[in-house]
Amino acid sequence: MPEQAVAGRVLSVASECVPLLKTGGLADVVGALPKALAAHGWDMRVLMPAYRGLAGRLEGATEVWTGGDVFGGPAIVLGGRVDGVAMLLLSAPHLYDREGGPYSAGGRDHPDNPERFAALSWVAAEIARGGLGDGWRPDILHAHDWQGGLAPAYLRYGGAGGVKSVITIHNIAFQGLAPAWKLAGLQLPGSQFYPDALEYYGNISALKAGLVTADAITTVSPTYAEELMRPEFGMGLQGVIAARAARVRGILNGVDAEVWDPATDTEILPYDLRRLKAKAANRARLMEEFGLSGVTGPLAIVVSRLTDQKGIDLIPAVLPDFVAAGGGLAVLGSGDPGLEGALHEAARRFPGRVAVKIGYDERLSHRMFAGGDAVLVPSRFEPCGLTQMYGLRYGTLPVVAATGGLADTVISASPMALAAGAATGIAFHPTDALAFGQALRRLCALFAEPAVWAGMQRAAMRQPVGWEASSAAYAALYAELRG
Ligand code: ADP
Repeated sequence: MPEQAVAGRVLSVASECVPLLKTGGLADVVGALPKALAAHGWDMRVLMPAYRGLAGRLEGATEVWTGGDVFGGPAIVLGGRVDGVAMLLLSAPHLYDREGGPYSAGGRDHPDNPERFAALSWVAAEIARGGLGDGWRPDILHAHDWQGGLAPAYLRYGGAGGVKSVITIHNIAFQGLAPAWKLAGLQLPGSQFYPDALEYYGNISALKAGLVTADAITTVSPTYAEELMRPEFGMGLQGVIAARAARVRGILNGVDAEVWDPATDTEILPYDLRRLKAKAANRARLMEEFGLSGVTGPLAIVVSRLTDQKGIDLIPAVLPDFVAAGGGLAVLGSGDPGLEGALHEAARRFPGRVAVKIGYDERLSHRMFAGGDAVLVPSRFEPCGLTQMYGLRYGTLPVVAATGGLADTVISASPMALAAGAATGIAFHPTDALAFGQALRRLCALFAEPAVWAGMQRAAMRQPVGWEASSAAYAALYAELRG
């Protein structure tokens, strides 16, 4: 293949990236973007902290940047590759070489999180301005969430030198607050501590800093982009985002179409559009694995963090009717102990029809998407959401709350959508037990018509959920910014 001309260079800065470290969907996206953008000629490198043990996983590691004192200690950047992605690890032992997770230890946030991620952002801005030792210098700085939020701010306040910046909001619930007295320690100019800039209700907010200083703002679905400008979803930042509406864009996440492919998935009995019947064998296996029997209606699955955001608390309320209609439910998740308890209680109440496994299990999740008839995602807010897209890929029809990325990816089974052969699931609104219960009744009715159901499965499996469209949208944005 002829080598593609380089369209430009992007420095992506984030606190996590697959496969080095993942606590949520953010890591999937940050890890997928370099490969997806390479197809459009963009050369992207990802900068993240060298948390304990990560540096050893870089292939061909070399020192590409050296700082003096960076927020209280020495720091260097190691460049290398992991799974084909060009990674830059910020090694600053005083900030990152410690026990626990990336954000907390023993259930408590690291007390110096503001400094830890300010340092990451500060180094990102330095690299953007001055380049790396190997001559690489980005045209665009792309920051993710609050941990990268100060990067566009440092870039702007210190002189951008022609480099443009983008910030992506993956979840507005985390805003990176620090007390105002840390301003000087975080190397932020006191002159910028006012409401239209860094100040946020008396504190510093790293996310807000990025939102007011970046050249463009993106979030992970078009509907979430609109929702963020409203008080119900903006979590206090709605005014800041609305004020920059012309610079805000919603670009859907994609899923890794190789990892999530029922035709090649080694965890399941493979099937595809033409061999949909083989899905039934996966269903039987899943029923056995969860100890379910006598399910004459749809077998629903839930694979999720168990939190109020995900609307898990609504499930016990809708189960009696769903089970009475012949439905069954298999849940995999962990999180809020109260919600775990409520689900266990439901499983006791409906033995053989409802079963719950508490934990995080990637392989089991594949077996669930292959074996389920429907995946339930009743979220109160959902920036993009991935599980409804896995459901589409596997012909496991999504039943979703019509919010954020869920509204953008599921074509609800209205009479018109069904007639056009376009329906791929069911979307309900508002996120409450009444609407959710009605959606499940509709699900049971559709399931009872095998030809209609199979038509929806085929439409779902044909729906594109990979990175093609989204990577083109990011490439267009970068090109536009660079001018
Ligand atoms: P969020 O990032 O808000 O948790 P997403 O739907 O964007 O929600 O991404 C969640 C990711 O984590 C998906 O890949 C989902 O399959 C996975 N996941 C969540 N809970 C579990 C679990 N208990 N076991 C396996 N995978 C899980």
